Amino acid sequence: MTNRETETTICATNKISADRDARKAFEIAKHDIAQSFLQELDKVITQGRLSELAETTGGIRLSWTNKLNTTAGRANWKRETVRTRNPDGSEASIRYRHHASIELAEKVIDDQHRLLNVIAHEFCHLANFMVSGITNNPHGKEFKVWAAKCSRRFGDRGIEVTTKHSYDIDFKYVWECTSCAMEYKRHSKSINPDRHRCGACKNPLKQTKPVPRAGARKPSEYQTFMKEQMRLLKEENPKTPQKEIMRRVADRWSSREAASVDEVAVGIEHLDLDGADGSESRTA
Ligand SMILES: [Zn+2]
Ligand SMILES: [Zn+2]
Repeated sequence: MTNRETETTICATNKISADRDARKAFEIAKHDIAQSFLQELDKVITQGRLSELAETTGGIRLSWTNKLNTTAGRANWKRETVRTRNPDGSEASIRYRHHASIELAEKVIDDQHRLLNVIAHEFCHLANFMVSGITNNPHGKEFKVWAAKCSRRFGDRGIEVTTKHSYDIDFKYVWECTSCAMEYKRHSKSINPDRHRCGACKNPLKQTKPVPRAGARKPSEYQTFMKEQMRLLKEENPKTPQKEIMRRVADRWSSREAASVDEVAVGIEHLDLDGADGSESRTA
């Protein structure tokens, strides 16, 4: 073995242990970094409104999870309506309780730069839900206003909030919800828009990457089902309003597709949509 070779080996070893030390230091510090940056964002961008709104439920919860693989973070929000009634049954008051949390992906977030950017992105979702009151368009124009504010104010710390969820992971296939624009990314062509639907709003998905070739396409299984069932139901119930028919057909489709919908919802983004009366909830 020549001296030169020995030297090379030593350098490589030092590099590995330096990386390991940096990772270890990050692992120890990341909880505090996350917590204090979230507080700072709230103070500077939303003037403390988010903590204020979430105060009665214990504030915005931050948690680390190893269940997220393709997305770096997730914001969950739910608004609970608390009604008090007078003895005669009439309404005395309405209060809202905001349940807000951010989940961070252990496996995806491995350095401070990414952590701060993920927190900023998810913070914008909460601001969009809680301050702007937008619940149906997670990356719409209101989100972009919050994103621009964060990028401007914290740009010197490397913050740039974009509408891409999966940061540096480059997926070969992308599908988008035709209604709420939620994106579903995969390394393989594992989503079939004929069978799978948006886990958030249950509407059909369409492939956006690679862009499908234009041209006549045969109707999807969903379209065929809807058309056929609409016709049948209308024949059976000629007096039922169109809206009600649509609802029943949609119910039939979803009970028929229950298994695969769950599979998408669990596999992609487990959407915490609470149908309970008086509450709304969104995940993005
Ligand atoms: Zn997002
Ligand atoms: Zn959707």
